[in-house]
Amino acid sequence: MSTLPPLDLSADVLAVTRALVDAPSVSGSEGPLADAVEAALRALGGLEVERIGDAVLARTNLGRPTRVVLAGHLDTVPIADNVPSRLDEATGRLYGCGTSDMKSGDAVMLRLAARFGVPGAQPAHDLTFVFYDNEEVESARNGLGRVARERRGWLYGDLAILMEPTDGEIEGGCQGTLRAVLETTGHRAHSARSWLGVNAIHALTGAVTALAAYRPREVEIDGCLYREGLNAVGISGGVAGNVIPDEAALTVNFRYAPDRDEDAAEAHVREVFADATAAGATLTVVDNAGGALPGLSEPAAAAFVAAVGRPARAKLGWTDVARFAAFGIPALNYGPGDPTLAHTREEHVLVDRLQPAEDALTAYLSGSTA
Ligand SMILES: [Zn+2]
Repeated sequence: MSTLPPLDLSADVLAVTRALVDAPSVSGSEGPLADAVEAALRALGGLEVERIGDAVLARTNLGRPTRVVLAGHLDTVPIADNVPSRLDEATGRLYGCGTSDMKSGDAVMLRLAARFGVPGAQPAHDLTFVFYDNEEVESARNGLGRVARERRGWLYGDLAILMEPTDGEIEGGCQGTLRAVLETTGHRAHSARSWLGVNAIHALTGAVTALAAYRPREVEIDGCLYREGLNAVGISGGVAGNVIPDEAALTVNFRYAPDRDEDAAEAHVREVFADATAAGATLTVVDNAGGALPGLSEPAAAAFVAAVGRPARAKLGWTDVARFAAFGIPALNYGPGDPTLAHTREEHVLVDRLQPAEDALTAYLSGSTA
């Protein structure tokens, strides 16, 4: 592990973004960057700082009646010849792995820490900063999940803002996601004497027809429109070109609005496939992560929406906001990056999105627009 040069948090948000991008931190190798972030936060002098693995936690303790939690992951997907960062002046784009997802968001957080985490600063809310590791890999390794298990108190607040890329829009809550496998069985036979067999693939017909005819729900919650979807995402079966198959499996993914919890989502999927299971198919839920309500009617969230000055929209993908929602904390996604560029070789962030994100949060956290 190498030591990185110190982070200069007095530099502008573009320079801080570049410094973060130029410090590679693929999931599992966040150590040196976490060291640099921890040292920079400790040097500010107005924050309680704690390190848990490669997660860095920092907070003010000013006795304010409300607390806002800002969270961002430090890791990136594997580098694709796109580190160090490259600034294209003509198009106003900063290219590099993590520029959108989500080191530009981390840079905004660090700039806010530099403003509000110094002795004598007077933010309108107490602030908690959570920089965490291993977001881009399997959920069991997720650093925010580890903090939730080991230091839950660090995540409590009146509002959590996750600085994942949203193109500078506020995206409320997130949808849940459930994956299930429907398996049918039959009886193997030579296809020349197919009447002696029972075809497991044909037994999926009703389920596939039900999916094709399925009318997904649209639900408006707190002014955000969530759009559900129940789709086949995989199908398998077949033994050989001359055999009636005795096994088949259909994998489905249900993306569900946050007014359903995990149990309600599973019950709904079981209802859709009730005919198939009544006919002998088995339905197994292999993965189910509940969503998060937008919570925009909560005063702390409403004040933030007012500060950004744009209507909030629904977050359709699953994000770590659900980990806050599990504690009953309203949580929003808001970040300067472009979500459609995340994980791409051409990943970049528009430079002119950076300062407005910092300014909107600064206004909100100073209480100047509340
Ligand atoms: Zn991300």
